[in-house]
Amino acid sequence: MKYLSIRWKLTLWYGFAVSVTLFAFGIILLILTRQQLLSRTDAALREELRELALEVEITRSETDFVTSANTRFLHHDIYDFAVIDSKGKTVFLSAGLSERSVAAIAPDNMTSEIRYETRDVAELGAFRVAGLSRESSFGHLTVLSVTSLKPLIGEMYALQMVMAVLLPLAIGAALVGGYFFANRALAPVNTIVEMANSVTIDSLNRRIEVPNPRDEIGRLAATLNSLIARLELAVNEIKRFTADASHELRTPLAALRMEAELALRADRSPEQYKGALRVVVDEATRLGRLADQLLTLSRQDAGIVDRARATVQLDAVVQDVVEQLQPLASDHGVLLKTGKIQACQVDGDDAGLRQVVYNVVENALKYTDGGGTVLIHCTTRQKTVVCEITDTGIGISDEHLPHIFNRFYRVDLSRHSESGGAGLGLSIARTTMLTHGGTIDIRSRPNAGTTVIICLPKAEVPDTCKNGSAQPDLSKLSFAGTKIESVATRMASGRIR
Ligand code: ATP
Ligand code: MG
Repeated sequence: MKYLSIRWKLTLWYGFAVSVTLFAFGIILLILTRQQLLSRTDAALREELRELALEVEITRSETDFVTSANTRFLHHDIYDFAVIDSKGKTVFLSAGLSERSVAAIAPDNMTSEIRYETRDVAELGAFRVAGLSRESSFGHLTVLSVTSLKPLIGEMYALQMVMAVLLPLAIGAALVGGYFFANRALAPVNTIVEMANSVTIDSLNRRIEVPNPRDEIGRLAATLNSLIARLELAVNEIKRFTADASHELRTPLAALRMEAELALRADRSPEQYKGALRVVVDEATRLGRLADQLLTLSRQDAGIVDRARATVQLDAVVQDVVEQLQPLASDHGVLLKTGKIQACQVDGDDAGLRQVVYNVVENALKYTDGGGTVLIHCTTRQKTVVCEITDTGIGISDEHLPHIFNRFYRVDLSRHSESGGAGLGLSIARTTMLTHGGTIDIRSRPNAGTTVIICLPKAEVPDTCKNGSAQPDLSKLSFAGTKIESVATRMASGRIR
């Protein structure tokens, strides 16, 4: 059964169900027919018995009775009769019965109520007997009417034969019909299989025809269609990414080659060579940064997140980034300063979060003209750490804002060629924030400035540290075989720096 096709399984289950139903129906039909025939036989026997009993009641003497019974009841095609007195002596016997058979078929303990019994006498076969007792003028008598059950058995046998022929035919027809209908019902599955097999990476725009979206096969086809649609989206995304990435790589490479070729075309002064080499270094730096960004993106796509998470002092990260980017700020003539900076800790990957702050502050500096200001606040609000980077730069119009986190998306391509960005910084930042359970939002007005808001869940500080009573037990901690406590003591005494 396990290795059968669904079509055959359905057919066999259907055949099994039909067989059980037909067998149950046949058995019930046989039982009811037998009961019906028997009750009809009993009714006829009762009529005959009543007539004989009346005869017993109304005749005055045994001789009168026997004379009258011989006339009316001696020969009958279907029924036989017997009258026995209380001593067991046969008073009357119809032609079809013998003394011996009467003894075999007579029911025991007769009453004035009619009793029916089925008897099987070896030499006579099955008989139905109706009997009652009656008081007559010539004594207490048992009156019997008897009929053979051979016709009934014959009718039952005929019915059984009909069923024995019809049942297998009906089951066979059910199996053939079941197979036909299962075939018809499952026909769309073949279409779906053929269609799904024919879908390749180049034909992901094809869809499976959904005959009836409300039945199981329709739902399966719809699910496959949505799967193919998601695949198409993902493949298109990958294609776009690859095209963008190769384009971004080609630009600095072309600049590199052009600069080198120009320098080689003729003899140049040392100053000209220096200038060419500066361009080469700039373009190589740009290429290196792009390669780093692409690597970060592919690691993020592959779900490779730095598992070595620790408590990160975000305020310190902000201060470091500000320090690091001060030279860029001076180059641009932009004032880079911090506002309210509270001590705030978050759980996460230090390098990843540093990259996020760096990308955002770098953007603020890149897209703010000389004389502008970039201001950073870092505060804690209940369970969240909020870092706001506000600039007075060129801003972003509403039409671009929804796309700003997309890969390779840049608002102003001409400006970009000067700043050298590939349009990946915010995309990387958003994925990093998501992996940290945080958010990054951007609010901006053209020519007025931009504010980027980074929210992160505050680090869970262990209870033991909250109340300040329990400092870590340094005597139990060691690093590379050296007791931390002893290192701490030596540092305090100024022996280690
Ligand atoms: P990369 O960061 O990869 O070097 P990039 O800075 O161009 O390049 P993103 O940081 O992703 O890329 O920024 C995407 C675009 O959003 C930028 O090109 C710029 O047009 C716009 N943008 C980002 N930050 C600001 C900002 N503070 N002010 C104005 N425009 C901004
Ligand atoms: Mg950027």
